[in-house]
Amino acid sequence: MKNNLLRKIPKMDILLNDLSDHYKLRFDNVHLKANIEKVLDQFRLKIQSGQIETFESSDLLRQIEFELDNKIQSTFKRVINGTGIVLHTNLGRAVISEAIAEEVIPLMTHYNTLEYDVETGRRGIRYQHIEDKICSITGAEAALIVNNNAAAVMLVLNTFAQNKEVIVSRGELVEIGGSFRVPDVMKASNSMLCEVGTTNKTHLKDYVNSINENTGLLMKVHTSNYKILGFTSSVDASELIELGSLNEIPLYEDLGSGLIVDLTPYGFASEPLVQDAIAKGIDILSFSGDKLFGGAQAGFIIGKKRYIDSIKKNQLLRAFRIDKFSLAIIDRTLNLYFNPIFAAQHIPTLKMLVLSQQEIKVKVSKFIETYEHRLSLHGVKVSGVDTTSEVGGGALPLERLPSYGICLKHDKSVNKVQIQLRNYAIPIIAMIIDDQLIFDFRTISEYEFEDLVSGIEFAVSGGPHA
Ligand SMILES: *Cc1c(COP(=O)(O)O)cnc(C)c1O
Repeated sequence: MKNNLLRKIPKMDILLNDLSDHYKLRFDNVHLKANIEKVLDQFRLKIQSGQIETFESSDLLRQIEFELDNKIQSTFKRVINGTGIVLHTNLGRAVISEAIAEEVIPLMTHYNTLEYDVETGRRGIRYQHIEDKICSITGAEAALIVNNNAAAVMLVLNTFAQNKEVIVSRGELVEIGGSFRVPDVMKASNSMLCEVGTTNKTHLKDYVNSINENTGLLMKVHTSNYKILGFTSSVDASELIELGSLNEIPLYEDLGSGLIVDLTPYGFASEPLVQDAIAKGIDILSFSGDKLFGGAQAGFIIGKKRYIDSIKKNQLLRAFRIDKFSLAIIDRTLNLYFNPIFAAQHIPTLKMLVLSQQEIKVKVSKFIETYEHRLSLHGVKVSGVDTTSEVGGGALPLERLPSYGICLKHDKSVNKVQIQLRNYAIPIIAMIIDDQLIFDFRTISEYEFEDLVSGIEFAVSGGPHA
């Protein structure tokens, strides 16, 4: 019986021949055979264990096609973010607007002026497309852009403090997202960390006493993902600038997030702005392109011309250079920053952050009114619920934004529904709070409503493999 079944399995050549042309175009014989072998092995095992008692060759063919389809599926795809965390590092940080995405597509699908000067017909410099804009917006004398802020930190340390000491307060030796720790970056860039002060208190005299002939840099790190409260003191940049210039040592601040739009009118706590740090006279400043700035992955390095010029001469810059996709997006995002109010209205990250709870409530009401009936046909009940969103991305760590969302009720367990939502073609990331399935609508746009509803229907009906 089992032997008969095993003998019924068609030969490789026949299976190859029976596959539709679609697969023969996408895969060469090596890949086709490898995948067919794999399915045949699984089939034989299932026959031997009695799991398969009968089959048609079309079943086998369908399994092979399923296997091949899977090979060219991408796990890197868009998701619907129901967490309310605006800068979600695991979900790709800053979202780019459709308008900007459309504007940069021709640069990707055509040749472009990345390093070409149309006036002279000669080689151009990729950094030049954006330097003037950054300087106008931030007030800096000069600017440079690299792959990300981690690269910016490395480059600054390597340029000014290779085999030299960098003085940093103990209260600022931060770790960001596990893989970026200030002391480790120091080591990697061949500079020596000189810790001063204590975790909660650092005074100007701590810096003064540590300066010696081998000091290359005074560094401040914005503690963007935590705050030390209580009996604390740190030294303001303005005091360090004086100390630095007295000793001819540049002061560098890693600002982390790079906020340009003042968010206090929207109810946020005060956060250092890029242009304020420049106005104070900080020599070199770096920040991320895809945190609060709201652009693509990038690291801005801005400040005094003489220092930025030295960084431009560092050979490492070539290894850290920004790619054309990110540069195009950063450039178009900068175009929105000449009026902060305009920026807050057009940059998705800022737009989501400044949404009031009332505005989010309106969005939720629209969702419930439009889809309540359709969802009820699947046994789903949705109701509005107060939520709290976060900025995320290690920015404004203490900020809790009053928000609004929906609570979904169904007979199935919340855990099962949550897992099924993640397994939808467009994965939907929902939260479980107090045993309730919750979607924060700060990070869900109206354009996503249809997909969200289809995903919920899929999740409660179990999906094809339930
Ligand atoms: C986020 C952050 C970094 C790392 O920036 P990336 O752009 O993610 O490389 C470095 N320093 C601080 C203070 C940060 O907040």
